[in-house]
Amino acid sequence: MHVEELDRNYLFHPMTNLAAHAENGPHMTIVEGHGATVTDRAGRDYLDAMAGLWCVNVGYAHPEMAEALREQALKLPYFHAFSSMGTDLPARLSERLINMAPVPMSKVFYGNSGSDANDTQAKLVWYYNNVLGRPMKKKIIARRRGYHGVTVLSGGLTGLKNLHDGFDLPLPMIRHIRPPHGLWEREPGQTDDEFATTLAIELDRFIVNEGPETVAALIAEPVMAAGGVIVPPDTYFPKIQEVLDKYDVLLIADEVVNGFGRLGVSFGSVSTNMKPDLMTVAKGITSAYVPLSAVLVSDKVWQVLLDGSAKYGSFGHGYTYSAHPLAAAAAMTNLDIIERDGLVDRVAENGKLLHELLHTAFADHPNVGEIRGRGLMAAVEFVESREPLRPFAQQGAFAGAVTRAALENGVITRALPAADTVSFSPPFVTTPDELERMVAGVRAGLDHAV
Ligand code: PLP
Repeated sequence: MHVEELDRNYLFHPMTNLAAHAENGPHMTIVEGHGATVTDRAGRDYLDAMAGLWCVNVGYAHPEMAEALREQALKLPYFHAFSSMGTDLPARLSERLINMAPVPMSKVFYGNSGSDANDTQAKLVWYYNNVLGRPMKKKIIARRRGYHGVTVLSGGLTGLKNLHDGFDLPLPMIRHIRPPHGLWEREPGQTDDEFATTLAIELDRFIVNEGPETVAALIAEPVMAAGGVIVPPDTYFPKIQEVLDKYDVLLIADEVVNGFGRLGVSFGSVSTNMKPDLMTVAKGITSAYVPLSAVLVSDKVWQVLLDGSAKYGSFGHGYTYSAHPLAAAAAMTNLDIIERDGLVDRVAENGKLLHELLHTAFADHPNVGEIRGRGLMAAVEFVESREPLRPFAQQGAFAGAVTRAALENGVITRALPAADTVSFSPPFVTTPDELERMVAGVRAGLDHAV
C-alpha cells in the first residue's frame, strides 16, 4: 500500500477535517527538510514560511542538532527526574534558562508540549492559592483569539471557539476578555495608548465583577500567534499589569512562539514590556527537534510552593518525560547555535525585510485589511471591503483559498481558521532571497484566489 493510503486508512490527524481526510487522504507527505525547504514524497520542494508550526527556528536537518542527539542517545537516552533523581543536562539547561529569562526567575519545571506546560501553570497557580489559604482564588483569565494549547485545561484557555466546539470547553473556572486587536476592537480615532487604557479599564471592571477574591491569574501571549499575529500597543501590558497587581492576580506569559528570538529580541516579554510571574516556553527551545516545554517560576511563587511541602508533602505533579536528557541536549545545542550564529539579530534584520516585502506586495490590494507583526512573525488579514471596513461573511474561507493557491506555488503558509489571516513565521536561517520567494508565492496565491 502507498503511504498516502496507509495515512488515509490509519492515521488520526490533529486539527484536520476528519471526513474530508477520510475521503481525500493527506494533502502532502513531507519526507525531507533542509534549512527553510521541505520536500514531499514526489520530490517537490516547498519553502516553509511557517517553520513547521512556528517552531523549526534553526532550520531543518541542522547537522549539529543531529550530532548532539546522536551523542546523547548513545550516552544516556533517558532517565527520569522523579523523587529528586536526575540527569546532568537538564540541570545545566535550567541554569541557562534562568540566566536568559527576561525577568528574574528562580526555577524551571519541564514538560513535553506547550499545552501540558500551560496545564502545569494552572496547577501551580491553584496550588499557590491553596497554600496561601485562598481556596476561592482559582479563576484564570485568558483572551479571545489567544492560543494556549488543546488539553482539557489549556484548550479552554485558548480563546478560539472552533477549538471548544464539541469538547465541552472551556472548564468553568476559565474566563475570556477582549484581545488588543486594533483592526476590529479599537474605537475610531483612538490612539494606541487610549486603546490600551480602555482595555485596562475593562479588565479592572471585569475582575471586580467576577470578585477579585476568585481571580487567580491572567495568561497572555506577548504577541499572539495563532489568533492572528496580534501585536499589542506598547503601553498595553504595563497598564494591564497595574490592574493585576491591584487585585493580587498573577501574570503568566505564554512565550511558546515568541520565546528565543522569534520577534528579533530574546523574548516576547522584552518586546512588549511584560513582567510575568510565570513563563511558558516550548517550540523554539529545541527548534522542535525533540518535544520540550518549560515553566519558569519567579521567586515570589516559588517561596509559596516551598511552603506547600509542609502542607501537602511531595509535589504531586510531573511527567515521565519531565527533564528528558535528549530534549535537554537538543535545547542546549539549539541555544548554542542561536547564540553563536547571531540568529536573533538576523531575525531582527530579516524581519524588517519581511515587513517591507509584505507591504510592497500586499498594501494596495482592496482585500487586504492589515499587514502586521514583529520580527520574523507576520500576518496579512483579508477583508471583504476596506471602506467601510467589513469582514468576509464566511470567516477564514478567503485566507484558506490564498493558502491553498500559495501551496501550489511551492510556499507553505498558514490560514488561521478564526480569522481571514495568512501568517508567516519562517525559520531564522531563511535567506533574503527565500523570503522574497515566500512573499511572492503568497501574493501570486492571492491573485489566484480573487
Ligand atoms: N501556547 C502557544 C502560544 C502556542 O502557539 C501553542 C501551540 O501552537 C501552544 C501554547 C501549545 O503548544 P503545543 O501544541 O506544543 O501543545
